[in-house]
Amino acid sequence: MKRTPVKKTVLVTGGAGFLGSHLCKALLERGDHVVCMDNLISGRLANIQDLKQDPDFDLIIHDVTEPYNFYVDEIFNLACPASPIFYQRDPIATYKTTVLGAVNALDLALRWNAKVFQASTSEVYGDPLIHPQPESYWGNVNPHGVRSCYDEGKRGAETLFFDYFRQHGVCIKIARIFNTYGPNMNVDDGRVVSNFIIQALQNEDITIYGDGKQTRSFCYVDDLIRGMLLLMDSGDSVTGPVNLGNPGEFSMIELAEKVLKIAESSSKLKYMPLPGDDPKRRKPDITLAEKLLHWEPAVPLDDGLKQTIEYFRGIL
Ligand code: UDP
Repeated sequence: MKRTPVKKTVLVTGGAGFLGSHLCKALLERGDHVVCMDNLISGRLANIQDLKQDPDFDLIIHDVTEPYNFYVDEIFNLACPASPIFYQRDPIATYKTTVLGAVNALDLALRWNAKVFQASTSEVYGDPLIHPQPESYWGNVNPHGVRSCYDEGKRGAETLFFDYFRQHGVCIKIARIFNTYGPNMNVDDGRVVSNFIIQALQNEDITIYGDGKQTRSFCYVDDLIRGMLLLMDSGDSVTGPVNLGNPGEFSMIELAEKVLKIAESSSKLKYMPLPGDDPKRRKPDITLAEKLLHWEPAVPLDDGLKQTIEYFRGIL
C-alpha cells in the first residue's frame, strides 16, 4: 500500500503581514501544514481570516525577539515592519526584531535541521551608487540614519545567516526583496503604492515626496511569492542572496500618473519634503534569479495596479 506523504510543517514568521499572508495561503494550497507566527504589530488578523478555517493552519501570537521551540521542516523569516513609517516608529524594536528574530529563527533551524529563508531587502543597498543593483554590490548605507534600524538590522541578519551556514552548516536561503505591492497592504502602511491608491480613490491630493523623480521598481505580490517558493525549493548549494523584484523602473510621478488614470481619479499632485536617507534610484538586477530559479516577474505594473486598486476599493 502506498503511504500518504507526511505534510511538511512550515513556519512563517510575520505570517499575518502583507507578504506573510500571501505566502501562508500559497503554502496551504500546495499542501503544507503552516504555522503562522505574528505579534500583530504591523500584521493584521483580517489578512489571515480566510486561512484560519483551514485545519492545516495554526496561528501563534508571539514576538520573534523571544525564543520559541517546536518542530519545523522549513522556516520563512519575514517578521518585521517593512514600511519606513512603521519601522521608524520604534526603531529600537525594529533593530531587535531583525537581529534577535534572525537568531531565534536560525537557532530553531539548527535544532530541527530545518531549512531557513530570510526575507532580506533592497534596503541593504542603501542609496546605491551602482545601477541596477546586482547581489555582488555591497551597498551605500548610512549606519546611523533614520533608516539604519531597518537597513543595518537586515544587513546584520544576512551576516548571522551566513555565519550559521559556515559555522553550523544550516541550510539558508536569502532573498533580497525589492518594493512589492498588492492586496493585503495596510491602509495606513504609508508606502507609496498604498498611499497613492487610497488618495486617488478618495480624490485627495497625491503626496509626492521630494521632486518625485526618485525611482523604484514595483513587483506584484503573486510574482514575488512564486520567486520565494522557488528559492526555498532550490538545491542546498543555493544560499543566495538572490534579488527578487521587478526590473521595470518608474519615477514616483510616473507611478502617480498611472494610479490616477487607472482609478479614474481627479486628485492633484501635492509636493512634500523628502524623508531622510530616501534612496534616489532602485532597480534590481535579476540575472541571478533568472539563472538559478528560472524566475522572472510576469505581471506588468498596470495589471498589478488594477488588482490592487480593486482591493482597496473593496475595503475603503
Ligand atoms: N513616497 C511618496 N509619497 C508617499 C509615500 C512615499 O512620494 O506618499 C516616495 C518615498 O519618498 C520614496 C518612494 O516613494 O522615494 C517609495 O517609498 P516607500 O515608502 O513605498 O518605500 P521605500 O522608500 O522603502 O522604497
